[in-house]
Amino acid sequence: MTHPPLSREVFLLFALLYGLAWGSFLNQWADRWSLACPPGVTWFSPRRSCCFHCQQTIPWWWNLPVVSYLWLGGRCGFCRAPMGASTLVVELAVPAGITALAAWVGPERPGVLAAGVGVLSGLILLGARAWKSRHL
Ligand SMILES: [Zn+2]
Repeated sequence: MTHPPLSREVFLLFALLYGLAWGSFLNQWADRWSLACPPGVTWFSPRRSCCFHCQQTIPWWWNLPVVSYLWLGGRCGFCRAPMGASTLVVELAVPAGITALAAWVGPERPGVLAAGVGVLSGLILLGARAWKSRHL
């Protein structure tokens, strides 16, 4: 059984949506890996995103990639502590990079695309960690 080919537009839309979600996740990991991470917060605990300043768990409607940052003016919705420009840059750079990579590689080579996403994610994670650790 063969599947109909995925249109280029739908493929790139999936890449963009995946990139937005993955970028938000990578940003949270970069925060937790940075020197600004408070004691008791690790890569895996707490499970949900939280504000490093007031320790409140961030509800999903304040945790939408890019949209929530712009909606809240780059600040925590509870205590108004700044999230830092690195948050917006990571949340934009990851979907932009993944969508550009998907447009270049195409859906015919999923292994190459996955490897590219892995390398891109690692580089952005390292850069974001360095940036977030500088701004204490
Ligand atoms: Zn807060």
